[in-house]
Amino acid sequence: MERTFPALLARMQELRDLQGIIGLATWDQETYLPAKATGARAHQLSTLQGLHHERLVDPRLGEVLAWAAAQPELDADQRAMVRVLTQERDRAVRVPQALVKALAEAQSRALVAWRQARKEKRFALFQPALARILALRREQADAYGHEGERYDALLEGYEPGMRVARLTPVLTALRDALIPMVAALAAAPRQVPELLQGRSFDAQAQWAFTLRLLEAMGFDLEAGRQDRSIHPFTGSTHPMDVRLTTRIDEANLLSALFSTIHEAGHGLYEQGFEEAHYRTPIAAAPSMGLHESQSRLWENVVGRSRAFWEHFFPALSAAFPQALAGVDVEGFHGVVNRVSRSLIRTEADEVTYNLHIVLRYELELLLIDDELPLEEVPAAWNERMRRYLGVTPPDDTLGVLQDIHWAWGEFGYFPTYTLGNLYSASLYRAAERALPELPGLLRRGELLPLRDWLRTHVHRQGYRLPAEELIRQVTGGGLTDTDFLQYLRGKYGALYGISL
Ligand SMILES: [Zn+2]
Repeated sequence: MERTFPALLARMQELRDLQGIIGLATWDQETYLPAKATGARAHQLSTLQGLHHERLVDPRLGEVLAWAAAQPELDADQRAMVRVLTQERDRAVRVPQALVKALAEAQSRALVAWRQARKEKRFALFQPALARILALRREQADAYGHEGERYDALLEGYEPGMRVARLTPVLTALRDALIPMVAALAAAPRQVPELLQGRSFDAQAQWAFTLRLLEAMGFDLEAGRQDRSIHPFTGSTHPMDVRLTTRIDEANLLSALFSTIHEAGHGLYEQGFEEAHYRTPIAAAPSMGLHESQSRLWENVVGRSRAFWEHFFPALSAAFPQALAGVDVEGFHGVVNRVSRSLIRTEADEVTYNLHIVLRYELELLLIDDELPLEEVPAAWNERMRRYLGVTPPDDTLGVLQDIHWAWGEFGYFPTYTLGNLYSASLYRAAERALPELPGLLRRGELLPLRDWLRTHVHRQGYRLPAEELIRQVTGGGLTDTDFLQYLRGKYGALYGISL
């Protein structure tokens, strides 16, 4: 490998091509793969990932990256590419292959144990596998290296640059503001009726409506597609090939609508990178939290707004004339924003959602530091559910066993959901300042000016800057819960007729 930028760029492109094909094979695995091909696909993916790893940790690449980092004539984008790939490579190099293999095996076992434990509603069946995963993740965190908090080394894998010392005060203040807000909403004299239960929504009409939403949001269906899967997700092989999935459930219209809007938020980000960055390490979001800010901004801030449904509800109503009989835009807006103290994170509304996350974050910090005996985890979970949300899980499946993340070993992932919510509110406020006519545009179903603003200020930036620096550049302030809390107080105070 020559010590020239073109040689380095060629390696970057090769690595991105491999990632793209891994993405495509993974998308296929979740959508169209014939049942009998599961084993074959696992081998294929493992081979491709092995190739990618080999090319990434190649010592010659390390030498050329070190050389490139010292070349003053590189432009800002080229320096960013070198910085991002160096970070990725350093992390990959630090973890011994034996540990990577042990983690993969522990994950497979933990998944089996987690499924069985859920079936029997007994955390104890998952406990030994979780102990093993935690031990390996601690070892991995120490291999990555950290100053102070071991959790930082894991957080870095999802939210580069974020630290426990920065995150904990924000999440604690958010928790302390949300607990009384949730209690006040539960006690409000005006409650929002659940209008859609027991109705059935034609699957074909749902599908057609989701395509209409994608078109209005400006998702390019000639540079991507939508399919169905059990768990909606966004897969990307290239900015010109972005694959969304949604979930159609005849008993639940909201599932398809909001899955599509959410994934399209991710998809617009993936389609929005600058062409000059394609096939390089900076055609990427700087963090999971920032990626999630795009899906949450569209799903919640826009997609659950009154203005949005003033435009789209008449069409929705026409698409389901019988199923939506007797429901008007006001009732529908209420239903999509109903607050309830529920047990399951993925079904939680915008107000209670982040309390589910703070609970997990607090337990993860204790678990990674080995400060909570595993047999006490269900009790610690339930105690926090009572304190934060006023509900007690009747069993472990509806409590501590509800998420797959810990079985995957994904400690450090949960807080990125809340970062997404906080960033989404701050970004939307910045968009409102830049586009004073935004509420009127939404009311007319004109979503492209907002998409274009996000494209310029967020998507096209790619990974030039770490997430919080990008947020600071766009909004004038860094990570904060102020914009999010102000957004919740305004919207939910009005909806529930109380002052929050
Ligand atoms: Zn998402």
